[in-house]
Amino acid sequence: MINASLKELADALAARRVSAVELTEHCIERIGRLDKGLNAFITVDPGRSLEQARAADARIAAGHAGPLTGIPVAHKDIFVAKGWPSTCGSRMLASFVSPYDAHVVERFNDAGAVVLGKTNMDEFAMGSSSETSWFGPVRNPWNVDRVAGGSSGGSAVAVAARLAPVATGTDTGGSIRQPAALSGVCGLKPTYGTVSRYGMIAFASSLDQGGPFARSAADLAVLLNVMAGFDARDSTSLERAPEDYARELERPLPGASAGKPLGGLRVGVPSEYFSAGLASDVASAVESAIDELKKLGASVIEVHLPNTGLSVPSYYVIAPAEASSNLSRYDGVRYGYRAPEYDDLVDMYCKTRAQGFGAEVKRRILIGTYVLSHGYYDAYYLKAQKIRRLIARDFTDAFRQCDVIAGPVTPTVAFALGAKVSDPVQMYLNDIYTIAANLAGLPAMSIPCGFGSEGLPVGLHLVGDYFTEARLLGIAHQFQKATDWHARVPAGYA
Ligand code: GLN
Repeated sequence: MINASLKELADALAARRVSAVELTEHCIERIGRLDKGLNAFITVDPGRSLEQARAADARIAAGHAGPLTGIPVAHKDIFVAKGWPSTCGSRMLASFVSPYDAHVVERFNDAGAVVLGKTNMDEFAMGSSSETSWFGPVRNPWNVDRVAGGSSGGSAVAVAARLAPVATGTDTGGSIRQPAALSGVCGLKPTYGTVSRYGMIAFASSLDQGGPFARSAADLAVLLNVMAGFDARDSTSLERAPEDYARELERPLPGASAGKPLGGLRVGVPSEYFSAGLASDVASAVESAIDELKKLGASVIEVHLPNTGLSVPSYYVIAPAEASSNLSRYDGVRYGYRAPEYDDLVDMYCKTRAQGFGAEVKRRILIGTYVLSHGYYDAYYLKAQKIRRLIARDFTDAFRQCDVIAGPVTPTVAFALGAKVSDPVQMYLNDIYTIAANLAGLPAMSIPCGFGSEGLPVGLHLVGDYFTEARLLGIAHQFQKATDWHARVPAGYA
């Protein structure tokens, strides 16, 4: 049951071979038994989950079930959920219980899905390894001495270790795709504005985007159908006609022929991505995956993204600038942590923020405040915004020649816990391949495509032009019909 697809689970629920309560209990039992060694969850609340599962069973019995009714979903703890602790991995919000639901949570609840729990993450989603959490690091089920990737590491691991069939995450600079790659699951960051940010605790608002984690592209499509859609409470939510993200899973491309489902597809491979920083084991798994796309009928061409090298430096100006502004709300007055002892109001602010935030969050606030300050704004912030435009233009140019861009998600397989925590620049360099899609607002995904050294998973990165999620999912689905990387289960979690 724990390896079943969403379609198989929905069929089993409809045929009453399993109930939503049994499915939820099964996940809760696995979390109880296996999560001690992984730390993927910050909060589980079986009473609450089972109450929703009972309601889902009643809905199924009444014949009103949808594709997600009765399906347990693990939500990244950046999405607030009514009545649930919503911590964002921070001491600042460690005892904050949300009075309302995020739009994403609301959508899943309306669909009859079950909130299985809240997953662990880097504090305020700042990190590439899920080690900066106030609740301790997440461990990788493929090797518990390795990182899970971040910042949505808990969600990726919950899916990889079969603690949850599916999960949600957010991606500001790679936080869905990078942990998906390092933990061996599928993750999709949609076009900016597709998924409402309402109730998604803000990190860098012009980059943050919610998206799904699952074990297959077909499951991601089912999840995105529920998560996506206009929401007037998010001023950057896109007002577009609803679409069925599963529509291209089985629809042949115009140039397809027998045995060549990807016939006519032009895959662009950026030469900049296969350079010195890329580990050879990752490069060879990604190259084999690109060969597989060729076997499926795609043609592969070289493209150029000349400003790739500027994406990390510009992101690490823009994201901290926005974060320093967004995080000013945590002042000990309105909600969240307040220092227990202080002299006056200013001292209360200072002590609250000194005690409530961890080192990485403080580093971001300092950088952000600096680059926005008078005298440095033009030199750093404004320049980074100009570079952001150039990076977006690189993609526009590339998409004149190709339909999709393929490459690595991460420069290496999962690294050892603790290996990069004291060297922020090394940590930031993990984001070299993922950040550009956020700066440009493009949809991008990671799917498992092989294993590197010591049997650790490698992800294939697919980046599409705006609003081409359905096609990306279709390409990934064809790849997954021809290969079984996405079906591999870490030893001990089958
Ligand atoms: N690793 C990047 C950062 O630390 C991206 C994080 C994210 O996407 N939330 O900012």
